[in-house]
Order: sequence, then C-alpha cells, then structure tokens
Amino acid sequence: MATPLERGAKRQDEAILLGTGGGPRPKKVNMSSAQVIIVNDLLYVVDCGDGVARQLVIAGVSLQKLRHVFVTHHHSDHNADYGNLLLFGWIDGLKPIVDAYGPPPLVRMTELIAEMNAVDIATRIADEGRPPFTGLVVPHELTAGGVVRQQAGVKVTAALVDHPPIRPAFAYRFDTPGRSIVISGDTAPSESLVTLAKGADVLVHEVLYLPGVDRLVGNEPHATRLRDHLVASHTPSAEVGRIAAAADVKTLVLSHFVPGDDRSITDEMWTVGVRAQFKGEVVVGRDLMVL
Ligand SMILES: [Zn+2]
Ligand SMILES: [Zn+2]
Repeated sequence: MATPLERGAKRQDEAILLGTGGGPRPKKVNMSSAQVIIVNDLLYVVDCGDGVARQLVIAGVSLQKLRHVFVTHHHSDHNADYGNLLLFGWIDGLKPIVDAYGPPPLVRMTELIAEMNAVDIATRIADEGRPPFTGLVVPHELTAGGVVRQQAGVKVTAALVDHPPIRPAFAYRFDTPGRSIVISGDTAPSESLVTLAKGADVLVHEVLYLPGVDRLVGNEPHATRLRDHLVASHTPSAEVGRIAAAADVKTLVLSHFVPGDDRSITDEMWTVGVRAQFKGEVVVGRDLMVL
C-alpha cells in the first residue's frame, strides 16, 4: 500500500478507496462508498457516495480523466454524488464522453442532472464560455450480469448480487493488463459474487460487525427493523472470510464498514472473524488507501 501520488503524476494501474463508510449518514470517520481504478491514466469510478469528487481531488486524481462511472445500486450512500461528480468534472474540464453504467433509472437520473443544474450550466456556458453539458455523459442501464465493457485492455464484468430490497444490485470485476480487482458493492453473502471473484488478485468486500450493529441500532427508534434489514442485506465478517476463501482471491480488502462511524471497533475486531475463514492477505480499508 502507498500514499496517493501527487497531482499530475502519470498513473498506470492503481485502485484507490475513496470512501469506506457504510450507510447513508455523513460520517466523521469515513466518507460514503466510492472507489476509483486507474488504468493507463483513465478513471473507472465505482460508486458515487458523498464527497466522491472531493476525495478524488484529495487523492491527487484529475477529474478530467474520468471516462467511466459504475453504480452498484441505488442506495444514497452509493449514488448521492453521481450527478455532482459529473457536474464538477464538467466544470474541471472533463471531455466527452463519460460512459456510465448502473441499474435503472440511470438514464432518467442522468437527464435530471442537467435539469436540476440548468441555471448553473447555462450561466457558465454564457458567462465563462464553457462547452455544453449535453452529450457529456452516456448512461447505460444494466438489468443483468455479464461483460459490460471491454476496451483498451480492460474488461469489466457485472454480476447480480443479493441486496434486498434493492434489485438489481451489482458487483463489478475489472480485469486490467496488470491484475483483477472485484468490488462487491452492497451484498448479503452471494454465491454469484464468489463466481465473479474466482481467482481475483483483489476483492474489495463490504463488511458488517454484528456486535457493533447491536450497539448502533440500540439507539434507534426502529431498532429491530433496522437490524433485520442490515443482517438480511449485508455480510457479517466471518461470512466475508468464507466468500474470499471460496473465491480463492489473493488479497481481501474490507470496506463499506457497518457501523461506519464507530471508532471503538478496532482492526482486530473487523478481521478476527474474517481470518478464521480466509488465510490470504487481509487489508482493513481506509479512505484514500491506494491498493
Ligand atoms: Zn451501502
Ligand atoms: Zn445498499
């Protein structure tokens, strides 16, 4: 693992965890879910949680190099800044086109970015001479798994995962010239993810720490319902280990931590259940960590 490169440096093949917190609330410790994979200096952003554009800038990554966005599913901790990433990218000089992939209604959501920001866009075009926003982004709606993109030596494969009640929800695998990286998105234990991640170099998987969840929901007015949702739609740490072992990945990176804002949960607590099942390398993800 390394620190982010300085802005402007040429980036050949790296992945950066931009936000590792799970759940929709803005958090003190971690930003919401987002990752970027950089191949030949072009960006493949996976998920657009709160602050994704700012995290890219802090990581020294130019928004102008954004070419692909992949949304795993439409929970707000994964898509709230989808529009903002594209709008700020446009302001930063992003060139057409950006291909965006994700579940419906991605096409309508993309149209609404321009509609919602019509005053700002029109003003900047007239006042600052900026190019049109129209045509900058081409959205592609996904309803089934399979190869979604294969270009410039990078193959991107999606798999449907189990994240009730949101359907569809996807995990994505990136086979680059250098290695293979899988991003689980949000998922309960899913055999489809095991298949997708088979033999991958890196699996970034969401994780739930059950004792922490009990503390988290203890203060909520709808504690039982919230706990039931979390357990039904996410993956407890021991199960993450089982999945990484079944997929036979080299390195498992924990991310999308639930609870996402509890400093009392140590790395040891996150990994003890994982290591009981998985004997490969285990990394506890952090915002801005370079993989
Ligand atoms: Zn989430
Ligand atoms: Zn979710």
